[in-house]
Amino acid sequence: MPSLIDLLRGRLATLLPSELRAEELVKLLLPHRHSMLLTQRRATLIVNRVRLLAFLFAVLTPIWGLVDLMVFPYPLWLSLVTFRLLACAAFACLLLLHRPNGSLYGAYRAVACLFAIPTLFYIASHTLLGGYQLTELSAVAAAGYAFLPLLLMAGLAIFPLTLLENAVLASALLLAQAVAAYLSWATLDWPSFAAVFWLALLIAGVTALASLSQLAFMIVLVRQAIRDPLTGTFARASGQEILQLQWDTSRRHDTGLAVALLDLDHFKAINHRFGHEAGDAVLREFGRHLLATLRSTDSVLRWGGEAFVIIMPDTDMDQARLVLDRMVRRGLGGRPDGTPLTASIGLAERCRDFTESSAELMALADRRMHLAKASGRNRLCTGGEDGTAGTALAEPPSHA
Ligand code: GH3
Ligand code: MG
Repeated sequence: MPSLIDLLRGRLATLLPSELRAEELVKLLLPHRHSMLLTQRRATLIVNRVRLLAFLFAVLTPIWGLVDLMVFPYPLWLSLVTFRLLACAAFACLLLLHRPNGSLYGAYRAVACLFAIPTLFYIASHTLLGGYQLTELSAVAAAGYAFLPLLLMAGLAIFPLTLLENAVLASALLLAQAVAAYLSWATLDWPSFAAVFWLALLIAGVTALASLSQLAFMIVLVRQAIRDPLTGTFARASGQEILQLQWDTSRRHDTGLAVALLDLDHFKAINHRFGHEAGDAVLREFGRHLLATLRSTDSVLRWGGEAFVIIMPDTDMDQARLVLDRMVRRGLGGRPDGTPLTASIGLAERCRDFTESSAELMALADRRMHLAKASGRNRLCTGGEDGTAGTALAEPPSHA
């Protein structure tokens, strides 16, 4: 029996996007499991797509008013064209007022506005048309209005959304459809309403799949773009983005922000004596050590070559010093000859060092790292009052 379950689980797993890692699957379900950079990029993409759709709707909605003018009697066409012009103005406002700023709530607001405008238009036009006895061409054009919820449902497919977000938006659209039916209860053509509602449900399913596969690709692309493939730490460009975000947060809340720059000692000698492959293996192991020792709120990035940066939010100088001391005590990994790997570390902290920008904080950590190098390596320099290179680090465990 267990083997049958395992077999089924294995088969089902092959249906999931293969480019995703097992631990990333939860990101398809819930937005709050996304990293800060994924959230930021996704929010930007969503707002840009909202603006694209708002532009298209702002242009197409009034143009379709010409059809209303030709097929509907007065004063019905006048009311419909008025609704269209109001919707057009609302789309134009959406286009002009929403700018991507990386905030997910901003993106939610933009999507809500984008869907609220045609939904209100649909409810209003549906209620209006329900009161008229239409014939031939005008009845055909009126049926077109009934398809608007389907168009909106299909529109969800252009956004990289999680399953939860999809479910919320699709439910809201279905609810609007039900509200429109309730408002024109007396004159409602039940069979055709039921057919459109059923179709909307089916489209919601297909749309959710399209939206989730977009999200899956985005998760993979963001992972590949932001991580250094050798060590699994953040690549420099994305690390700088994280540093800036953490800097802004720590300024806003007036909390500590510590940054440590670690440069491995005599690394060139490893390549020289044991080859580049051995050097790569040491870097890989070092990256693993860093990621395993630090808190989940800390970020590690590869600054370049064999230099790494640790960003520690909500951490003052003394706490950061303790973290680094503990990390070194546990060991940074070993050199191929069995001797322990050591690093020279420069540490700077926003509040203690009165720095004015994230770049200044980084530059200070860099200066202190060089000071630690100059005064004998395997040292931590925190910029003591006398300008000396600070303390020698605890002896790391031997890797013999
Ligand atoms: P110091 O103690 O002064 O920091 O000396 P060092 O030898 O560590 O520093 P140096 O800057 O002279 O040399 C760094 C070396 O790191 C040179 C470069 O070949 C090597 N390196 C940089 N990136 C990689 C990499 O991805 N893989 C390998 N194997 N080596 C790398
Ligand atoms: Mg070095």
